[in-house]
Amino acid sequence: MPELGLNRRRLVAGIGVVAIASIVPGRGPRVFAQDAAPPANGERTLGWSDELVDDNGRINVATTVAPISSIVRNIGGTRIDLHGIVPDGTNSHTFEPAPSDAKILAAADIIFVNGLDLELPTMELAEANLRDGAEIVALGEKTITEDEWVFDFSFPKEGGHPNPHLWTNPPYAKRYAEIVAGTLSARDPDNAGYYAENLDRYSAALDALDAAIAEAAQTVPEQNRKLLTYHDSWAYFAPHYGFVVIGAVQPSDFSEPSPREVAALIDQIKAEGVPAVFGSEVFSSTVLEQIAREAGATYIDQLRDDEPPGESNAPEHTYLGMMIKDMDLMITALGGDASAVTALSPADTYEG
Ligand SMILES: [Zn+2]
Repeated sequence: MPELGLNRRRLVAGIGVVAIASIVPGRGPRVFAQDAAPPANGERTLGWSDELVDDNGRINVATTVAPISSIVRNIGGTRIDLHGIVPDGTNSHTFEPAPSDAKILAAADIIFVNGLDLELPTMELAEANLRDGAEIVALGEKTITEDEWVFDFSFPKEGGHPNPHLWTNPPYAKRYAEIVAGTLSARDPDNAGYYAENLDRYSAALDALDAAIAEAAQTVPEQNRKLLTYHDSWAYFAPHYGFVVIGAVQPSDFSEPSPREVAALIDQIKAEGVPAVFGSEVFSSTVLEQIAREAGATYIDQLRDDEPPGESNAPEHTYLGMMIKDMDLMITALGGDASAVTALSPADTYEG
């Protein structure tokens, strides 16, 4: 891959990105292929768009991206009010919060963010509006140390911003859940037992996900365990399961690659014999489609790193559902058998 020394903070216009994302051809109806089991709690998922009000006996929690919102819901369950700031299907890396988001952030007792520079504009707004006694918890910084940060294709070291996508690695997602449980319990000790039970249940689901992905990854022919993605969100996932990220197409400023870079990628895919390349649900790319076609690889355009599948209250509209869907696409396209993963329930696990 070419060295792209561009500053990723030179943001593409947020409004433009949203507009493009909403007219992506081929997105189609969001139907989840799996026959999803009902949630363990016997209800539809509560989602993460509660109104944050005082004096209803529940603590107010704000989050940023959907995977974090889903993790927090599985620990806080019905005993918290939860509002995710970054809308589904939005480019979280360039998301600029609206002035109205300041009101939500100002009403929160706890604001969970990924950190690692993913949501800098939202963090700035959160800091400026933090109410007395409230706290901002950066999960990424509490999960790995600086020497474990990954800098790579779309997140080059000279840009100074590490790859922030820890949550595509389920053991890191479990660590996020543990931090969330500890934080909620400290602020709301009356419900500490409830949060601890929810953590037990959710940790078991994340352990099962981890084991199933490891099992499914083993069914991918070894020479195919290579990931070339448009959006660079598998840096912490790949080494854990024996995959190698051979490249990412998206430059660090979220623009499209140059013709010279495209030609180099086509040569690389041919040389490595990669059977499939992976586009993103959020970032549409005709360039990646062209690269795949010219290199003779299958093009899968539906990987997601921060948009769960299904409608907002559907059982699969969860972090678990997103990972199951991604593995179904990824493992299958690379010639493996994803059934160990697709057998899992995507549903929330908190006690109703
Ligand atoms: Zn991302």
